[in-house]
Amino acid sequence: MSLLNEVARRRTFAIISHPDAGKTTLTEKLLLFAGAIQIAGSVKARKASRHASSDWMEIEKQRGISVASSVMQMEYRDCVINLLDTPGHQDFSEDTYRVLTAVDAALMVIDAANGVEPQTIRLLQVCRARNTPIITFINKMDREVREPLDLLAELEQHLGMDAVPFSWPVGMGRSFGGVFDIRRDRMRVFRSGADRVGADSDDIIEGIDNPEIVQRFGDSFERATGEMELLADASQPFDREAFLAGKQTPVFFGSAINNFGVQEVLDALVDLAPQPGSRHALQREVKPDETKFSGVVFKVQANMDPSHRDRVAFVRVCSGHFERGMRLKVARSGKEIRPNNVVSFLSQRRELLDDAYAGDVIGIPNHGVLHLGDVLTEGEALQFTGLPFFAPELFQAVEVADPLRTKQLRIGLNQLGEEGAIQVFRPDAGGAMLLGAVGQLQFEVVAHRLKSEYGVQARMMSSRYSMARWITAEDPKDLKKFMDANAQHIAHDVVDAPAFLISSSAQLRVAQEMYPKVQFHALREHG
Ligand code: GDP
Repeated sequence: MSLLNEVARRRTFAIISHPDAGKTTLTEKLLLFAGAIQIAGSVKARKASRHASSDWMEIEKQRGISVASSVMQMEYRDCVINLLDTPGHQDFSEDTYRVLTAVDAALMVIDAANGVEPQTIRLLQVCRARNTPIITFINKMDREVREPLDLLAELEQHLGMDAVPFSWPVGMGRSFGGVFDIRRDRMRVFRSGADRVGADSDDIIEGIDNPEIVQRFGDSFERATGEMELLADASQPFDREAFLAGKQTPVFFGSAINNFGVQEVLDALVDLAPQPGSRHALQREVKPDETKFSGVVFKVQANMDPSHRDRVAFVRVCSGHFERGMRLKVARSGKEIRPNNVVSFLSQRRELLDDAYAGDVIGIPNHGVLHLGDVLTEGEALQFTGLPFFAPELFQAVEVADPLRTKQLRIGLNQLGEEGAIQVFRPDAGGAMLLGAVGQLQFEVVAHRLKSEYGVQARMMSSRYSMARWITAEDPKDLKKFMDANAQHIAHDVVDAPAFLISSSAQLRVAQEMYPKVQFHALREHG
């Protein structure tokens, strides 16, 4: 198959939701419908262990599992679908944001009883900022949930884009009759607890005017038709260009746990979601079907065995064809690597991979050669843009209990910082290193990992800072002037980018007023 065809049949998307909306369930069902049944159990197993543990030793074990199952690949209708899971816990949301940079579309799961929830809103902001096309699945229609019209309105308000329903629910909860497929003018009848894949023909009733529908679903159906008429008048027709530009989202209703509405979502991924597109690098635009390989590290995860300290770098292939054993160059350092035992994430198991194309994700085990944001090429110096780092909102100072371990602490913090587990700031004025996080849990994970992987008993202390802004200025002199005047509040992060550390938003406002030529960034993009 030609490179062009390989690219054209790839779909790479992330599945996002507020915890408990049904992401794990839907993931499992998508795999089931695509025929990758074996993993379905392992998705569940992972979730179960995640819930069972409050103990960090458990996290240690799970990291190994999650490396393998955080990217899933399946074949469906001749397409290769790469599904990237996003960490559920909000304290790991930074990681989630970075995963979103590696996909071409997102599948958003919404709990129909709760509507758009806070965690979803934050994720949506990132999708919006990148104009990522979003497919929406409104889940749990087998429960007493919110009115579908309300849900749609809420969705539009938060998304700032038009929501275009492809299906419409008939009833809900106990009286949930199924969904009407608006485009194909037929109704799919709901059966609770249907454990089968696919549906029998008697689950389908053709035509909105079919008397059988009214007979069976009476009031619920009348109501649904009324709503659909309202929608037909009020809403925009689906426009694929608008969807691809992140201006419209197709909406599906269903019940993942009952296998209901899952097939439609899978088909939408194939029919609607985009194939891998071009990517911006500082130097030029990189097309997916260029013959030369390029890829970007969007996530680094410590591997199972802490004593080996090896990590797996997740690389999104951006162009060309990856073959096991090929020589690759790390654009940042100029170092050459020759990945032989690459980890792939094929549906059934973690196995050796032979080749990959744009849109695919490969895992490269390494000992720290690969950093977050690194670009791999066959030699060309490329730097892709857009890997976000978010200004931390929580800070702790970190010291080592045993001064003889200071060096280990520094090494550990550097590596954890490069991995993106936490942000590490070195104050210009000296003193203890500062850790910056988006969620409290990150500190605990880092303390645990420092101990188990680097043998460092770290002492975390509260810090007076509550905010950081990366600083830049067009004229380096302006930046220097600001840094000199605020030396007590300046620190450098792991890539040596200067940041202004502050304890109140008032302090930030004052600085902005006094130094109009300095820019204060809440987000740092790699590169
Ligand atoms: P996640 O945290 O988003 O991954 O959510 P899960 O997939 O673990 O689902 C959270 C809970 O909702 C679990 O108890 C599921 O069994 C349940 N659930 C998922 N889908 C449905 C559904 O369609 N209907 C109902 N009633 N419950 C569901």
